[in-house]
Amino acid sequence: MSTIRIGAHMATKGDVSTVPKRTTEIGGNVAQIFVKNPRSWKTGEIKEGMKEKLQAEMVKYDVPIFVHSGYLVNMATPEEELRKKVMHLISNEISMTIQLGLKYYNVHPGSHRGTGEKEGLERIVRTLSEVMSMFPNADLCILLESVSPKGGNIGYKWEHMKYIMDEVGDPRIGVTYDTCHGFDAGYDPRTPETLDMILNEIDKNVGLDKLHMIHLNDSMYPLGVAKDRHQNIGKGYIGMEGMKNLLSNPVIRSKSIVLETPEKALTHADDIKTIKRILKELELH
Ligand code: MN
Ligand code: MN
Ligand code: ZN
Repeated sequence: MSTIRIGAHMATKGDVSTVPKRTTEIGGNVAQIFVKNPRSWKTGEIKEGMKEKLQAEMVKYDVPIFVHSGYLVNMATPEEELRKKVMHLISNEISMTIQLGLKYYNVHPGSHRGTGEKEGLERIVRTLSEVMSMFPNADLCILLESVSPKGGNIGYKWEHMKYIMDEVGDPRIGVTYDTCHGFDAGYDPRTPETLDMILNEIDKNVGLDKLHMIHLNDSMYPLGVAKDRHQNIGKGYIGMEGMKNLLSNPVIRSKSIVLETPEKALTHADDIKTIKRILKELELH
């Protein structure tokens, strides 16, 4: 059986090269990071020699790393001045991603802020096309993350991703399936039948080969409530049975599984333990 990749969103703590080691310390073998302060418009830079240092640690600990965009990135923003600022911010984050020798940059498609989905989708296509053209030869993959249907968000339906990918027409675009966000949007992964429906929908719209990451999060609210409140594995409405169902699916297991669960009462290490216990019960690990 091939390696199952499970890990979490990790703080970089001022030195990104410490992420692979700290990932193994919580029982993980894949990670997600921000390349800079996700709440700041200020651009960041990668220190000389950091790529080599990080890559050596990634090889040593066998931990691949995905990058998540900052919170200020909204490719669908209706304000042109703001869209230019967003472009500047994304291109800075993508440059930093490339400078670290990383490939995958995960981003929420964006919010139309009340101007309607059609216009929002068109602005995403325009912004993303411009961004891709700034990195014509880069070994890069942009992952459009499935989001919760709240606040004018685009990307809560797989049809949105298909539209964006078809219109931009760059093969370097893939997707991430966030189980909490999907649950918010009415995609129910708790039974084999409904999970198959979700995967069929992803396959039909974008192709399962374009699905590179699973954000495995439980949901604090019931199906379709769209509050975007993540919960620890097995502790929410997807629940232990839902998580067992997800982890028993070979497509889900073949992707990089990254937790974005709260670290209050429980930690990512606890959630990874829960996942490993489930895999053991399923005799898969
Ligand atoms: Mn996200
Ligand atoms: Mn997510
Ligand atoms: Zn969320």
